[in-house]
Amino acid sequence: MDLPKYDLHCHSTASDGSLDPMDLIEKARQKKIKVLAITDHDTLKGVEPFLGKDLDGVQLIAGTELTCVWNKRMLHIIGLGMDVNSQKLQGYLDSLSELRTARARKIADQLMTMGLPDIFLAAKEKAGGGVIGRPHFAKVMLEQGLVTSEQQAFKKYLGIGKKGDVKMEWPSLEEAVSVIHGAGGVSILAHPTKYKMTFTKLRLVIRGFVDVGGKGIEVSYPGMTPDHHFQLLRIAKENDLMLSAGSDFHTPGNTWTDLGKYPPLKSNENHVLNALLQ
Ligand code: AMP
Ligand code: MN
Ligand code: MN
Ligand code: MN
Repeated sequence: MDLPKYDLHCHSTASDGSLDPMDLIEKARQKKIKVLAITDHDTLKGVEPFLGKDLDGVQLIAGTELTCVWNKRMLHIIGLGMDVNSQKLQGYLDSLSELRTARARKIADQLMTMGLPDIFLAAKEKAGGGVIGRPHFAKVMLEQGLVTSEQQAFKKYLGIGKKGDVKMEWPSLEEAVSVIHGAGGVSILAHPTKYKMTFTKLRLVIRGFVDVGGKGIEVSYPGMTPDHHFQLLRIAKENDLMLSAGSDFHTPGNTWTDLGKYPPLKSNENHVLNALLQ
């Protein structure tokens, strides 16, 4: 079966994206995307007000990208198609929001030990009431001339292993998967090749994900090689995981990606859209 044009991973101003949800939906319309999941980090607030509304040809799916840990590694799990009225899910997201604010304070403190000014409030303002994350710090640093690009902010201060990469007690992989399923959603391991690990390690992660009931993996997203794509398709098949794909779009300022843009899938067998559009 031919699938409609879709994008199952993107961000709005409710987390670290730069378009508000309405503009994202409009962009999807322009790009002839028929099925769109807005998957903000640890929140449903962006997508929630538009669910069930007539969006003139765009079918909107409730999504979120949950931050969690497995064996001390931070992972991102996409949840698709949840019931947003689930009290358990909403409570879970509320505590994540508190955790993120506490983390933001710690990030600012860490940056101050490196000689930077206190940019906590500026970062909070940048998040604009949405879920706060490291990209908001990167944007403030750029604005204040503390770095020459957001990329540099990650390289020097915020990226893996840097001082601003503050470790928190994120929920476990099992908790993330279980809260998604509890709300009737499908759990998807996001961008498997972006965790800076070997395929041997990645296979262990995927085994861990399957062991806690994980349902699918992203097999296409920007920046992946054709070889990665084939390896992920094989891993999906071996583990009976559904396929998903998306652009991870954050901002029109990024030239290397756009909404709806990711390498075409070489197979649509066991695609998550078949489950979501039933
Ligand atoms: P956080 O949610 O605070 O852990 O921040 C993670 C987000 O930061 C990711 O979703 C990306 O949007 C962004 N990010 C992570 N690494 C980089 C990087 N090296 N350069 C630019 N943005 C990044
Ligand atoms: Mn992000
Ligand atoms: Mn991610
Ligand atoms: Mn993302």
